[in-house]
Order: sequence, then structure tokens, then C-alpha cells
Amino acid sequence: QGDFREHAAALGRLGVEAVEVRKPEQLEDVDGLVIPGGESTAITRLIRIYELEEALRSYERPIFGTCAGMILLDRDHLGLADVGVERNAYGRQVSSFEADLRLVEGGEPLHGVFIRAPRVTAVGEDVEVLAELDGEPVLLRDGRYLIASFHPELTGDTRVHELFLDMVREEAMASGGTL
Ligand code: GLN
Repeated sequence: QGDFREHAAALGRLGVEAVEVRKPEQLEDVDGLVIPGGESTAITRLIRIYELEEALRSYERPIFGTCAGMILLDRDHLGLADVGVERNAYGRQVSSFEADLRLVEGGEPLHGVFIRAPRVTAVGEDVEVLAELDGEPVLLRDGRYLIASFHPELTGDTRVHELFLDMVREEAMASGGTL
């Protein structure tokens, strides 16, 4: 469910093959996982139907969650990323908007597309904030987990996907594999 095709296209532009994961055993063959934006309630239901929950919890490689995908990774859902998230938290009037995001490390701002976006309301101690909107975190990294409240797959800017691919390569290297 959600905009998995756009993520696959963004990864394709970076020369990486994306496969669609629907069954738990498919997770064994992928070096990293993207949980797309869409509807977190629908994705949660599908995770149950396809019995993916255990496999997701025990998956040991990087996961990138955008928007609904970020909600899935938060403390109240899979509990993999140490963040508290509130759904649809930018209000009705501005439920969808675009804004330039400040990169904490500096550099060209990222252009963020927000669609009925979740808001990060609590950030665990070990979580790194990578980008902000009006002083609030919108792109974060918690170890192997990269989460964004916006949709980097909807702009031509591939920097966030590149960062995720760096995390995937690092992890593969650290676990003695090759990519
Ligand atoms: N509003 C959606 C949810 O709560 C997320 C929106 C999105 O992924 N673009 O799941």
C-alpha cells in the first residue's frame, strides 16, 4: 500500500534494484527495507494479514520509513525507532504543503513534500535529528532506522535515498557481506 512505486523509481535512478516485499520470507533477501507513505492504518492491517510483524521486528538491516512508514516504526507501532509520533498533526487547513527544510549539518535545504503528515512529538536520547522544519524534527536517524515525516521520493532530489543507501552499504559491510 502507498507510494512504493515512487520509492522504487527513486532507488532505480540511483542504480539500485527494488523488489516489492509482501511475504515475511522475502525480507531475508533484501539488504534494506523501505516502508512507504500511504495510510498507516491500511499498512498495519496488511502487516497483520500477511503475518509480517514478527519478520519486521526481527529484521536486522536498515529500514527507511516515510510518512505512514515513519508512523509504523514509532513507539506505538512496531517500536523500532525511539520516537513518539502524532498522525495527521499539521491540521486540516494545511494538511498538505511543501516547505524547505533546514539540514542540521548544513548544505542546500531539502525540499519537503508533506501530505497529511505526522509530527514527531518525542525524540529518544540516541536519535539524531538530520533536518528540521520551523525547529521541529522531520528527518531523523535512530541507528539502522531512517525516518522522514515528508516524501523524499516525490522530488527529484535523491540525497535522502542516497543517505539510506549509505546506511545499507555500511550495515552490509559491518556484517561481512558484499554489495
Ligand atoms: N495520514 C497518513 C497516516 O496517518 C500518512 C500520510 C502519508 O503517508 N502521506 O497514515
